[in-house]
Amino acid sequence: MTRHSPIWHPFTQHAIMPEMTKITGGCGAYLTKADGERMLDAISSWWVVTHGHCHPHVIGAIKEQADKLDQVIFAGHTHEPAELLAQQLLRCTPDGLDYVFFSDSGSTSVEVALKMALGYWHHLGEKRQRVVVMENSYHGDTIGTMSVGERCVFNQPYNPLLFDVAKLPFPSAGNEQTTFDELEKLCSAGDVAAFIVEPLVLGAGGMLMYSPQTLRTLVQICKKHHVLFIADEVMTGWGRTGKLFACEYAQVTPDIACYSKGLTGGSLPLAVTMCSEAIYNEHYSTDRSKTFFHSSSYTANPIACAAAVANLEVWEREPVYERIENLAKMQAAGLERFKNDERFTNLRQQGTIAAMDINVRDHGYLSDVGPRLYAFFQKKNLLLRPLGNTLYSMPPYCVTQDDVNHIYDAMAEAADELL
Ligand SMILES: *Cc1c(COP(=O)(O)O)cnc(C)c1O
Repeated sequence: MTRHSPIWHPFTQHAIMPEMTKITGGCGAYLTKADGERMLDAISSWWVVTHGHCHPHVIGAIKEQADKLDQVIFAGHTHEPAELLAQQLLRCTPDGLDYVFFSDSGSTSVEVALKMALGYWHHLGEKRQRVVVMENSYHGDTIGTMSVGERCVFNQPYNPLLFDVAKLPFPSAGNEQTTFDELEKLCSAGDVAAFIVEPLVLGAGGMLMYSPQTLRTLVQICKKHHVLFIADEVMTGWGRTGKLFACEYAQVTPDIACYSKGLTGGSLPLAVTMCSEAIYNEHYSTDRSKTFFHSSSYTANPIACAAAVANLEVWEREPVYERIENLAKMQAAGLERFKNDERFTNLRQQGTIAAMDINVRDHGYLSDVGPRLYAFFQKKNLLLRPLGNTLYSMPPYCVTQDDVNHIYDAMAEAADELL
């Protein structure tokens, strides 16, 4: 209780970690600490920063918009940054996502997706209320999103309040058929409203990866049974997996898609839930009871929308795909160093995301491996936050070879220290 700050930080046990690292600035892949030292942001500040901190074009757009219009109610009103952004999103997302609903975090975008799916079936007059999820998923920290996520230490106290879902086993390599069979069985019952999943990479669940072909088959099973497919691309979107969106690998169009994190390049909070015309149309009626009753106060904040428009311009103007390709190669080479190192297992990569597990007996989230590694990396001026015994790196796309070397050198040293 010797802390001086009254702030209660997220996912932070203050009894073990009394001091927060104070950050005073950010530029490119680096954060500046209050002591003046620079720290490499190897996890993109929790997966949000894509092009780098304080990208001048994005920051410029924020400043410009802030002088014109800061905020306006979005019910019954609209503005240029939101209209522009919606048009641009329609162009760059999979064909078939025709409408854009704004909110302000990944969690709310998933809540909106679930409400859209349930509303769709409700208005159609079909009794479909079951949601199918995948083992080890993470979709956010609200009651609704925890309900569709993995039940674990993160949500144990709230478990009695979480709604029931049907869970598919994770389709690990070689065991995909079990997952397909289970989905087929669940969908055949006729009461499934939607299947929600993180395409190709389950992030918070431990950077678990499965193939595009597997995703494609899962989606095909859903389509066959008219089950809505919700893609939670909150983490996988905006280039992380190597393409703009992970669904592109499987060439599937979601009925509903959630995008947030990298939507503003990581500068301001904003999210969108995009959906098919069919879902929009089921809510479109002169009967006011069919209105989509959802909003948060800051829905489509003009400054956040302007940041997102600028972010998309960065994608068009700068060689972002080239950077992503280079980063993917650097990550592959980094992992390669640990290929025959028996202290590490499950080396895996999808695009710019690289992960591996440290071989320790107790590897749950609460084992002390994670915090010890975290502390070690902090000392090395490296922002890396292991998920239990899973070490991963997911830096902004502007990192250099030297930066990536720093990450993998530190990982090797950490293992020496730990084991
Ligand atoms: C981070 C994340 C969320 C939640 O987003 P917030 O902005 O933190 O609410 C939802 N889904 C996935 C896949 C995520 O990685």
